[in-house]
Amino acid sequence: MNYHIDNILIWDNFREKGECPLCGIYLTIEGKFVSSYLNEAVMEDSCRGEVNRYGFCPRHFEQLYMGDNKLGLALQAHTRLGYLMKEIEVAESRRAAQKMADKLMGHLKSCVICSLIGPHMERYAGAVAQMYGKDGEFKKLFWEGKGFCMGHFCLLLNASRNAGSCEKEYLRALSQVQAKNLERLHAELGHFADMFDYKSNGKPWGTVKDALERCINKICGRIIEKP
Ligand SMILES: [Zn+2]
Ligand SMILES: [Zn+2]
Repeated sequence: MNYHIDNILIWDNFREKGECPLCGIYLTIEGKFVSSYLNEAVMEDSCRGEVNRYGFCPRHFEQLYMGDNKLGLALQAHTRLGYLMKEIEVAESRRAAQKMADKLMGHLKSCVICSLIGPHMERYAGAVAQMYGKDGEFKKLFWEGKGFCMGHFCLLLNASRNAGSCEKEYLRALSQVQAKNLERLHAELGHFADMFDYKSNGKPWGTVKDALERCINKICGRIIEKP
């Protein structure tokens, strides 16, 4: 499946002013790849081969399972299990057992969907840096944002060269926006914890009502949706 850089996706997610605009982009791309593995990819030999070798991580297996193609997923899981079965031997010594465990653990770390999304996210991170360097309106939006989750902050740090001659300014902006917003969230979470004190009885929760969810998402990427 081809997936082109979509600047509108970047604009839309930055305009939302959530805790991480890149998480929004990630979820959109992820949704497309997951549904492709429930539809067209299931039938293609090349994709089946990749699934056999790399499999799916727990997150993506679960998402596929929640989808509506149990037969397609069963066929993919069947060949994947067959691939993993070949790694099992009768262990004759501790050394052989550890070797088999290491090899199996290596197999369990890979995910065909994660490895497809990765390069797209790198390109999006590069496009953010480029837009910062070229578009004044975007620069303003970037400064007004709430920063990024930790993983996507690292991704952006690694893609700074795409800001071209603005790279230094971009890196400064990126780290300042991040530091400022981590401080904001840190204070919000402190306020959230204070609300459990009896002295806070009857006081309004205000904006800190969902501070715990936002803090977890800031550290881990968007894994908890707002209730
Ligand atoms: Zn993120
Ligand atoms: Zn995955």
